[in-house]
Amino acid sequence: MNMRNKMQAERSAKEIFEQATKYAFDYSDNVESRSVFPSEKAIEDLRLFDEDMPKINGDASQILDQLHTFGSPASVAQTGGRYFGFVTGGALPVALATKWLTDFWDQNSGLYLMSPISSMLERVTERWLRGLFGLPDHVGASFLSGTSMAIFCGLAAARHRIYSNHGWDFNRQGHRGAPPIRIVAGSTSHGAVIKAVALIGFGLDHIEWVPSDKQGRLITDELPALDNSTIVLLQAGNVNTGSFDPIEQVCQLANEAGAWVHIDGAFGLWAGATSELKHLTSGMEKAQSWSVDGHKTLNTPYDNGILLCADQEALVAALQASGSYLSYSEHRDGMLYTPEMSRRARVIELWATLKYLGTQGVDELVFGLHQRAMQFADELTDQGFLVINDVVFNQVLVGFNRDDRYTLDIVEHIQTSGECWVGTSIWDDAKVIRISVCSWATTEEDVSRSVRAFVAARTAIGN
Ligand SMILES: *Cc1c(COP(=O)(O)O)cnc(C)c1O
Repeated sequence: MNMRNKMQAERSAKEIFEQATKYAFDYSDNVESRSVFPSEKAIEDLRLFDEDMPKINGDASQILDQLHTFGSPASVAQTGGRYFGFVTGGALPVALATKWLTDFWDQNSGLYLMSPISSMLERVTERWLRGLFGLPDHVGASFLSGTSMAIFCGLAAARHRIYSNHGWDFNRQGHRGAPPIRIVAGSTSHGAVIKAVALIGFGLDHIEWVPSDKQGRLITDELPALDNSTIVLLQAGNVNTGSFDPIEQVCQLANEAGAWVHIDGAFGLWAGATSELKHLTSGMEKAQSWSVDGHKTLNTPYDNGILLCADQEALVAALQASGSYLSYSEHRDGMLYTPEMSRRARVIELWATLKYLGTQGVDELVFGLHQRAMQFADELTDQGFLVINDVVFNQVLVGFNRDDRYTLDIVEHIQTSGECWVGTSIWDDAKVIRISVCSWATTEEDVSRSVRAFVAARTAIGN
């Protein structure tokens, strides 16, 4: 059989899709009972993948079988309830099912002409996001791979606006001879913010760092004088403590000076979509751009990042694309708002997530993460552990007042127990344990069981 006939037979017989479905359900049925991090054997077995690329076309069923037998056990059980590493987020069932369905569409969301459905859902989702965050009507959304890219695009729009206000056409004239742009950022800014500043060419040595308080919040009184050549980078959700910069105060000063404010709220911006935690992002509507992820707090599958930008003219000009074969339309052409031309229609999963949750569901989901984080902190404290941050959102930091080796031993014991997975960070020059509650799947019992893993680790390590 030639290859095309074989593939047509695979498509119509559907056996490989049924096989994949069976494996996926098997994975999902076991995700709560398996070890959260893969076992040593599962990691060792990964060697099987390290082979030469085959010469002849293979067997689809065998490929799926290899993936399920050796790939599934070597994955991290991030869609279960006891993964608290980094700030990742699970995936809502409806979002996964939507992804399955729309994988068969394989849409390119670059132009309306390439995917009317994607164009429509980008427009609708953009409007819903404005509503959720209380942003004005002229704010637009870009659907990107993640927050890193969203910060990058926000900076590109800011640069375009500042330069055009100064009579400088950045796209044509570039950096050479350009008037300087100032970058002001809090001293605990996320690595993705720093990366974006470097990538875009502002130069890390030129960042004017603003000192932060004990919780990692930028101190407003320490801000340098702002002007209309300044970009201020704020944080909604410090990646260690979960704290929020004083958004209202800084935006006020920046607006008076004509500076551009970008708020990085990869996971924390969603506080602004709740009733109980909304105070944390108070004043956010006064900024010019915002970056936020669907794939963290909101629990869409990866990769799902969003840039919200109040200056669509500057954004589109900064990301300009032209080509004789491109036909823009009356409708929304997604690629005007992103660096990429071809792009998967990730908005569909975001749309399905928002449609499923509704505004009340978003509130319940995000506030629920906060409640589980509070429970974590309370139970750890009851057990004699030291929680060193104010748990304002979903992050809990545990310190030990011991040498770093002790902290690492505790963490390693917890991680290898398979009971849950927590990571480490450095806070106040010491190693700490960092807990991020970010999945809808985490129950009260998951938290208690994870606290028991902390206690067991302390008992096992002894003094
Ligand atoms: C995760 C994160 C980022 C980077 O986002 P990606 O989606 O991983 O690119 C930026 N800022 C903060 C605060 C984050 O938590």
